[in-house]
Amino acid sequence: MIVVIGSGVAGLSAALSLARARYDVKVITKSVTGGSTPIAKGGIAVPVGRDDSPEIHAHDTLKAGAGLCDEGAVRYFTHQAVKVYYQLQEMGFKFDPELWLEGGHSRRRIAHRTDETGAQLHRFLYHRAVEMDVKIVEAQLISLKASNGRVKGVITDKGEMEAEKVVLATGGYNSTFKFATSKGNLGEGIASAFLAGAAVADMEFVQFHPTVTEDGFLMTETLRGEGAKLINDKGERFAFAYDQRGELAPRDVLARAVYTEYLKGNEVFLDLSDVRELDKRFPVVSDYLRKRGLGSRVKIVTAAHFTIGGVLTNVKGQTTLENLFAIGEAADTGLHGANRLASNSLLEGLVMGLNISDFIEDDWTGPKLNGNDLIELEVRQAEGLDLDSVKEGNWRHLGVIREGKSLEEWLNVLKDRHGNAWSLVSYLATYSALMRRESRGSHYRSDYPQQDDSFRKRFVLVRKGSV
Ligand SMILES: Cc1cc2nc3c(=O)[nH]c(=O)nc-3n(C[C@H](O)[C@H](O)[C@H](O)COP(=O)(O)OP(=O)(O)OC[C@H]3O[C@@H](n4cnc5c(N)ncnc54)[C@H](O)[C@@H]3O)c2cc1C
Repeated sequence: MIVVIGSGVAGLSAALSLARARYDVKVITKSVTGGSTPIAKGGIAVPVGRDDSPEIHAHDTLKAGAGLCDEGAVRYFTHQAVKVYYQLQEMGFKFDPELWLEGGHSRRRIAHRTDETGAQLHRFLYHRAVEMDVKIVEAQLISLKASNGRVKGVITDKGEMEAEKVVLATGGYNSTFKFATSKGNLGEGIASAFLAGAAVADMEFVQFHPTVTEDGFLMTETLRGEGAKLINDKGERFAFAYDQRGELAPRDVLARAVYTEYLKGNEVFLDLSDVRELDKRFPVVSDYLRKRGLGSRVKIVTAAHFTIGGVLTNVKGQTTLENLFAIGEAADTGLHGANRLASNSLLEGLVMGLNISDFIEDDWTGPKLNGNDLIELEVRQAEGLDLDSVKEGNWRHLGVIREGKSLEEWLNVLKDRHGNAWSLVSYLATYSALMRRESRGSHYRSDYPQQDDSFRKRFVLVRKGSV
């Protein structure tokens, strides 16, 4: 039996891939409609435009990743993107004909289905999985059963289960921040893997989205690609003061710009008046505006959106623990480096999920450290902090703009309180953010505002005693 934990894009596509290859597969998920996938908006990056290629897509991905991408992984995913784009259509999924443009992409390459691509894709994969008789059970992963560097099963709130292989597809940990674009992503899979002895990496890299409404609705990136403008309450189109690309600058730049405007005492709005056919092309956004009686100017803030760090894997999803795969946002393949290029994450989940049956029996080579720093950390499973305190602390100390003393203060609070997933992943992220005494990609330190090439390496963390 292969147990897949999670029912987002990664978990469902893995379950489908394994069921099609006639493996006995069971999906366990906290909530069938939970996670980020059902609320993902913009789309999937695929280099299928006439002026595009996997190499150009790889170039844009590497540029966004600020020197920390695994180049082999980047080339793998941008080449596989073309394959899964056609594969999904062969399976019956329908994309809209035009490709959208998003910040950081030098070509139009966002394949989408209206402005609710995630919901449409999730529904599609779920129905295909049900048609294939995949068993999907709602239960919560508590821990992994492992011994001698090998995973043997799972413990959930509904009981224990033996498994030949476990595929973790539990998503990231952005919901451990006070302002976040999704709910319920608490890093439970990543924490379980770390506790069982798997290496995790890049935990300091958290991507903040620049345009989220105060009630947590994401004003998708593509709106800016299609003409939406950032305006402050003085009427200034301020994005160009921070970056010459204006509204098409990468997310980290714009998130800091929006955050800084607030620090200056200015409120920030997204002006949609130049977006062509908003009603027709962005029905979900239009519906949101209509229901709240909002016009074409919407007040926005910045929020934690995507967590780059996760369980260290190779592109097959193999972790450092035998028989444990991690895929999607729970995994860290090195595709995103220090900053994710928009719309590369649904892609990563799809590719890893749909390809998994090709690799499930492979020899266990696991991910390579490639000269990155391996750090052993002591774990103390004393009572964790409550979720609200972690959210508040992460926003304050581990947020858009970080600083050494503040990180140290927060690390001391979290140090001996690893008894729940959200406290443990926050500890690992804070530890890594404190060690990274530079600014790179999505990680910005006001006390070290420059990129420093002596830090051109990834921090890989492992539980003390497990190597
Ligand atoms: C609002 C929003 C918009 C986005 N838009 C885009 C976009 O346009 N393009 C793009 O590429 N990316 C986008 N992203 C990011 C993208 O949606 C995610 O990276 C991707 O969906 C992650 O997929 P996943 O399958 O790895 O995890 P998720 O979709 O987050 O699924 C995780 C699954 O794990 C389950 N789970 C969690 N913990 C447990 C546990 N302890 N036990 C059992 N099950 C558990 C959850 O119930 C869920 O089913 C967006 C994210 C958000 C929040």
